[in-house]
Amino acid sequence: MPGYYQIMDYAKSVKNMLAKDTKGNSLPIKKINDNTWEISDVKNKTFLVNYSIQTEKQFVANSYVDSTHAYIIPENTFLYEEESINTPISIKLIFNEKWKNVATGLEPVPGNSQKFTASDFDILYDCPILIGNLEELSSFNVKGIKHQFIGYNLGNFDREFFMTNLKKIVESSIDIIGDIPYKNYSFIGIGPGRGGIEHLNNTTISFDGTQLTTPEAIDKMMNFIAHEYFHHFNVKRIRPFELGPFDYDNGNRTNLLWISEGLTVYYEYLIVKRAGLLDAQTLLSHFEQNLNAYENNPGRFHQSLKQASYHTWSDGPFGTKGNEPGKSISYYNKGPIVGLLLDFEIRNATQNKKSLDDVMRLLYWNYYKEKQRGFTEAEFQQSCEQVAGISLDEIFEYVYTTKELNYKKYLAYAGLIIDKQTIVSNDNTKKQKLMISRIKNLNPLQLAILNSWLGE
Ligand SMILES: [Zn+2]
Repeated sequence: MPGYYQIMDYAKSVKNMLAKDTKGNSLPIKKINDNTWEISDVKNKTFLVNYSIQTEKQFVANSYVDSTHAYIIPENTFLYEEESINTPISIKLIFNEKWKNVATGLEPVPGNSQKFTASDFDILYDCPILIGNLEELSSFNVKGIKHQFIGYNLGNFDREFFMTNLKKIVESSIDIIGDIPYKNYSFIGIGPGRGGIEHLNNTTISFDGTQLTTPEAIDKMMNFIAHEYFHHFNVKRIRPFELGPFDYDNGNRTNLLWISEGLTVYYEYLIVKRAGLLDAQTLLSHFEQNLNAYENNPGRFHQSLKQASYHTWSDGPFGTKGNEPGKSISYYNKGPIVGLLLDFEIRNATQNKKSLDDVMRLLYWNYYKEKQRGFTEAEFQQSCEQVAGISLDEIFEYVYTTKELNYKKYLAYAGLIIDKQTIVSNDNTKKQKLMISRIKNLNPLQLAILNSWLGE
């Protein structure tokens, strides 16, 4: 599943596969590998395939059906004919008549609430489908484009406050790139649980409004949603070369997930801060969490950010499940820190005239809009250097190697300092505790960098 960098083996849940011709005669069908079935003598003839999908686990990357709702992951559900992956598709949903609505990013067929179309299988697979008695919160427009939040079992919470904040997050994200590339956008809440997955014009997120009772829980949720939303730019459109077209048999490996995931974490913090939903101290505390997780992981001497990106398919999304624990890192921790150093370096080198935001815009316009492809590893560094006007070899050593990060140098550009304490716990294990704070007297450039970075 694009956006979920693990082999899911959806074919395992396909049961009772049967094929028939138009007269109802059974056709021989044979499974030829883990996820392919072959039907003989049907070339250029119409035929019907019938099969069931067994669903077991409620999870954002799995289809799940029960008596109250259905969450359908299209790549978990719809087979494609090998040579026809680029052909248009129409689907018809037939479901429990007590269920009222369907939430999906698919194109609805006018006048028929059960029929949808997609221009090809990649678009179909990019649009999960949620069916049930769903609740749609009051939608908002940004520059005339409709954004809706719709979901199942949303829970008790202040809906108006939530949607006001969500609108600010969408606006603050769009301000970074300066363009809205979709006709409408849906946030689809699939019920309580964990995780979210990004798509071109929608995101499916685990959501439980009942938990939104403390400022910390609200902050966590808004960061999570900002992350999934910003992905429609960073990874769906601003993307590594290898992440398209998607290989549904093998997955697509890339050295650049630290950009797609790590820099999305970096931007989720900034988006929520610039939306006015976070104070500067809490923003810095988010970076401290990543710093402490990274500095206390012995894996940092063994695995570079580039390697962590490539090996996520075997190491697991957080770099902890691999064959050798303590030998891997998480790009969710080191990615945003390198993003921070890179951003400050660009700002300092250009007298704060340019920033990482300019790099994201350059990638969007140059590769997504103009060249209509992803960027390579070399092209990413070139784009950063084009914006910075200087060589960034030193920063990119933090990506390609396990070299220790020089926080002091780069944080100073924005008038920030880092303090380090060693904490010895009862069982005599030592932990590093790193804290970021602001210095008192900033020079004009430091002040300009800090304020514009914070959006103040
Ligand atoms: Zn992500």
